Amino acid sequence: MTTTAAPATAPFRFFDVHVVRTERRSPSVVRITFGGERLAEMASGGRDQRFKLFLPQPHQSRPVFDDTGEGWYAAWRVQDPAERAVMRTYTIREQRHDPEEFDVDFVLHGADAAGHAPASGPASSWAAAARTGDRLSVLAPTVEDNGGVDFRPPSGTDWILLTGDGTALPAVAGILAWLTPGTHAQVFLEIDHEDDRRYLPSFADADITWIVRDHAGAPGGEAVVDALRTATLPTGTPYAWIAGEAGSVKAQRRHLVQERGFDRRAVKFTGYWRRGATEEDLIAELTAAAAAADQD
Ligand SMILES: Cc1cc2nc3c(=O)[nH]c(=O)nc-3n(C[C@H](O)[C@H](O)[C@H](O)COP(=O)(O)OP(=O)(O)OC[C@H]3O[C@@H](n4cnc5c(N)ncnc54)[C@H](O)[C@@H]3O)c2cc1C
Repeated sequence: MTTTAAPATAPFRFFDVHVVRTERRSPSVVRITFGGERLAEMASGGRDQRFKLFLPQPHQSRPVFDDTGEGWYAAWRVQDPAERAVMRTYTIREQRHDPEEFDVDFVLHGADAAGHAPASGPASSWAAAARTGDRLSVLAPTVEDNGGVDFRPPSGTDWILLTGDGTALPAVAGILAWLTPGTHAQVFLEIDHEDDRRYLPSFADADITWIVRDHAGAPGGEAVVDALRTATLPTGTPYAWIAGEAGSVKAQRRHLVQERGFDRRAVKFTGYWRRGATEEDLIAELTAAAAAADQD
């Protein structure tokens, strides 16, 4: 997985932002548009550009953390977990200038009236209740070519494979918008509801398969693995980008490398969330693994 325990600061910096508007895009997704005084200094690299969100605790109106530059992560870690800002990772769906704004599409897991996703979390709950004027902070890039963009197909790639769930849909949309005419992309997207389907503009020759979980009847992440297993894929040199629930991502990668013979270096895979684990749990695991590696 490519999630890092301590996200790099440069060329990232903190921005104070506020909610400009919210829009319920579909049963599972709310789009939140953010504005902020210094957003002209922010520079999204497009594609799957990730950034960090710092949310207030439920009893706070603003997130609490010290912007200590390079040392912010160490400072954040030793703060009281009940008081420090809640840190989560999201994708910049689109950045616009004049006015300076950017959009983030939040999956409302746990806020689903149909009860498909029982576990909520601070970010999902915050997004479900967000109102114009709500304030938070983000750690976001200041140059377009930054380490928060993972989609980087090498030269010699003949075709692209993209797979994801609702959390990866903003990144897939960004990647499809970025691909050049003539590129062939085979895309598998697993969504919770028929109405979560959306138009994904692209100059590429994109063949998109939507897998609706309602219809698939399988727990999240399994249907996309099954679809991949039975798919007829193009010939030539592939580059695969896979994101979504960590267990599903792992199974897809294993299938591509072991059964389809994909070069493992041409498979970019990222667990965007893991069933039963919060983002704090994942960071704690990575931190422990990094500490154990240091002792070896
Ligand atoms: C690089 C990257 C980019 C991402 N971009 C986006 C994005 O643009 N939009 C987006 O919506 N998400 C995105 N995610 C995923 C998002 O960070 C996680 O879903 C995160 O766990 C949500 O935080 P939370 O506070 O709502 O839940 P947490 O407190 O982290 O988790 C609480 C519980 O909810 C479960 N859970 C978490 N997410 C989901 C889910 N989607 N469905 C069902 N159960 C879930 C967990 O397993 C846990 O049991 C991205 C993740 C990464 C690593």
